[in-house]
Amino acid sequence: MEFESKAIHAGNRPDPLYGAVSTPIYQTSNFIFEDMGQSKGFEYTRSANPTRKVLEDTLAALEEGNRALVFASGMAAEATLMHLLRPGDHLVAQQDLYGGTYRLLQGVMVHFGIETTFVDAKDSEQVEKALRSNTKMIWLESISNPLLHVADFEPIVKLAKTRGILSVIDNTFASPYFFNPFSLGFDVVVHSTTKYINGHCDVIGGAVIVQDAELGEKIAYLANALGTSQAPFDAWLVLRGLETLAIRMQKHEQNALQIAQFLEQHPHVEKVYHPGLESHASHHLAKRYLRGFGGMVSFEIAGGIEAARQFFRRVQWFGFAESLGGIASLCQHPATMSHAAMPEDHRRALGIRDNLIRLSIGLEHIQDLIDGLEKGLA
Ligand code: PLP
Repeated sequence: MEFESKAIHAGNRPDPLYGAVSTPIYQTSNFIFEDMGQSKGFEYTRSANPTRKVLEDTLAALEEGNRALVFASGMAAEATLMHLLRPGDHLVAQQDLYGGTYRLLQGVMVHFGIETTFVDAKDSEQVEKALRSNTKMIWLESISNPLLHVADFEPIVKLAKTRGILSVIDNTFASPYFFNPFSLGFDVVVHSTTKYINGHCDVIGGAVIVQDAELGEKIAYLANALGTSQAPFDAWLVLRGLETLAIRMQKHEQNALQIAQFLEQHPHVEKVYHPGLESHASHHLAKRYLRGFGGMVSFEIAGGIEAARQFFRRVQWFGFAESLGGIASLCQHPATMSHAAMPEDHRRALGIRDNLIRLSIGLEHIQDLIDGLEKGLA
């Protein structure tokens, strides 16, 4: 079955009661037992729920994995996964990653004795140099946030395999439509389903997908123990969004590429970051590993932070808000919003400057978006 069909049919099963076409929302905390020790497969919604299961099976199929688990947020998915680690373990992470992941590692996990080294993962040698005898996890993003870099996945996954290290990739920005990390041998795929997978800016959610059944069981155990799983209604919303992922991603990408090209020739723009542009440092890696370049564009505006402030006041059609991946276009300021949790020196070292603006390109008509940006840049 092809991607578009899987998104609609892979997890869905006929409703046994009334034949409902849309997946029913099993809005229940618990399920009746038939006899002692005998349930109909579901007992308590924290551990499993039929609506959630349809979403999980669809996501597993789209990522070409064997088991998916869905969570109350992307951060709940990440935090649950990190409970696989033990005090004294070491983690190597891509340096330019989502600020919330940085906060979880440096503000929370560090207090449980888990140390992280951040590296430029475009260069696999840097990853190799950072590995220690106690390194248990490597954490990458498929397209990084906010500079939209792509790591050199293949040698890094090989390294992880030979050293027995769990390789994790946050595939939020590429989405399963543009990249299936299991095809390169990654062990774990993470998503903030809040973004492209749901796609409508109306729910928070996360997912973890694996190929190995034993690892899947361990993560399911943690989700139940920690109580981080997603509520049935939220899972249903994500499922409804997911059904149209393919056509949305095609349009996000088409609009994003045109906007990146428009910004690149604009006199009030100093630099544009989009993996589809030949000028982007990760263009060759994006072409090698991904089936598309995604719907995000970042750029540095001429005139520093004051020009950025004016841009946010004047721009049209781009909501000035956190998050990304929805049908409506958004703009935000990484230094004070998505990456405020990163210390200033770390941000500067990565090149996240105060005049950097991140755009999430929506599904509006391209001409309206360009007109709206012109107003912001005037
Ligand atoms: N991963 C990435 C790449 C993100 O951009 C985000 C949120 O912006 C998250 C994870 C966290 O997801 P959530 O906001 O659903 O907790």
